[in-house]
Parts: sequence; structure tokens; C-alpha cells
Amino acid sequence: VPFLKIENLHVEIEGKEILKDFSLEINGGEIHAIMGPNGTGKSTLASAIMGHPKYEITSGSVLLMGEDVLEMEVDERAQAGLFLAMQYPSEISGITNADFLRSAINAKREEGDEISLMKFIRKLDEKMALLEMDESFSQRYLNEGFSGGEKKRNEILQLLMLEPKIAILDEIDSGLDIDALKVVSQGVNAMRSSEFGCLIITHYQRLLNYITPDKVHVMMQGRIVKSGGAELATKLEAEGYDWIKAELGIED
Ligand code: ADP
Ligand code: MG
Ligand code: MG
Repeated sequence: VPFLKIENLHVEIEGKEILKDFSLEINGGEIHAIMGPNGTGKSTLASAIMGHPKYEITSGSVLLMGEDVLEMEVDERAQAGLFLAMQYPSEISGITNADFLRSAINAKREEGDEISLMKFIRKLDEKMALLEMDESFSQRYLNEGFSGGEKKRNEILQLLMLEPKIAILDEIDSGLDIDALKVVSQGVNAMRSSEFGCLIITHYQRLLNYITPDKVHVMMQGRIVKSGGAELATKLEAEGYDWIKAELGIED
């Protein structure tokens, strides 16, 4: 069974159809990238899958490990193994990073099987070291006063701590300098295993120099219009999207 299976998805915002018959399948062990011009619905895809109330799914299905995601409440989606890093991570005051992570991990586990404090701290230390994060980070309030780069790094920390089945990473590269980009990529690469599938959404090819995708999809006008291997991203970087538009007879 595919880790993530999106079939014929149609999504509207305020009565306007943004996703038009979007389909995609991701297996365990695979990293896929979606690229595409601004405004084609990439973030809409991420928000719709996560259950953002503004996005109305008019038809189609989303299955996580064979289970119907669209029937789940938002918190159930995360518990079922879906992880979403948003383009604009929100600030939550009054809760530290460490507290947040520990309760998020425990929310995914059975009652009575909570992670011990020792194990949690050991894991947190290990992952923070991998991401070259300062120890003080764990005691800071979630996203409060974090720089753009710190927020991104922190999202990857969440990814490494929560170990989801599927992660959807929307523009985790935006606003990162090259060093932060490398660290963030290192974190995603560390997740690579047969037990994990990943969808990277990006406007730029840059990130894909550090995370080599198994498949690259081009999204235009609300659906995937072309798929290929990592070489497709390189071609897009060099030639832009016009050749695809010409090939498909798309005007904009
Ligand atoms: P991308 O991530 O590919 O740049 P988006 O999914 O953000 O594209 O946007 C797709 C289209 O949906 C755009 O035309 C955008 O203006 C519209 N859109 C996205 N989010 C909203 C929203 N919350 N309210 C109204 N329109 C939206
Ligand atoms: Mg955009
Ligand atoms: Mg976007």
C-alpha cells in the first residue's frame, strides 16, 4: 500500500477551483518534489491535505497508509503519521519547544506507553546536534521571536522528533542562507528510510541540489502536468517553465 495516495482531488477556495483533478502516489522510501510557478496551487495542496477549513474538497480522495485522511480530524491526521511544515509557521506562546515536542510525541503513542523523559531528552539532544541547534532552543517558546531560518530549522527538528510516515514540506527553503539550507537538507536526508515518504514543495531548484528527489513533478493550473526524475528539476532551473507550457499549449 502506498504511504500517500491522492486521487482526482478537486479543491476550492471561496468558490474558486484551485486544484483540478490532482493525483499523486508516494511510496515508503521515496522523496518526491513538486515544482511549479507561483499561484498554481502548491500550498493549497498542502493546506487541503492538512485540513485547513478554508479549503473545500469538492471531490477526490487522500489516503495515508490506506486510510481516508479526509475523514479524520486535523489532530488525527498528525497522529496517523502526517506531517506538514507550513510556508508560514505560526507562533504559539506559552509553550516551550521541548514541551511541545514531548506532548506531540506522546499524542501519537498509546496511553501508558509515553516516552520517558530520559529517552526524550536523549533523542532531542541527538537531533538538535544534527541540526546544529543551540541547546537553549529547546527551552524557548515555540516560534516566538524565531528568525525565519530558526523556524525552518525548528520544523525539521519536529520532523526528526515526530518521525511521521509522510511529510509535506512547503517551501522549507524560502529565506534560508546556504548554511541553513544545508543543515535543513541534512535533516531531511537523515529521515530517508523505507518507513518514510516525503513531498517537497518548492519554487526553486536550489534545495534539490542537497536533497535528491526520486521523482520530480511539475504543477501548473492545479494539477501535475509533467513528471520525471531529478534531472527534470535541473532542466527547469536552466530553462524555466515555458517549454512545458509550449508543449502542453498552456497560456497564462
Ligand atoms: P502556490 O503555492 O503554488 O504559489 P497557492 O496554493 O498559494 O499557490 O495559491 C493558488 C491560488 O489560490 C492562487 O490564485 C491564490 O491567490 C489562491 N489562494 C490561495 N490561498 C488562498 C486563500 N486563503 N484565499 C483566497 N485565495 C487563495
Ligand atoms: Mg506562493
Ligand atoms: Mg505556495
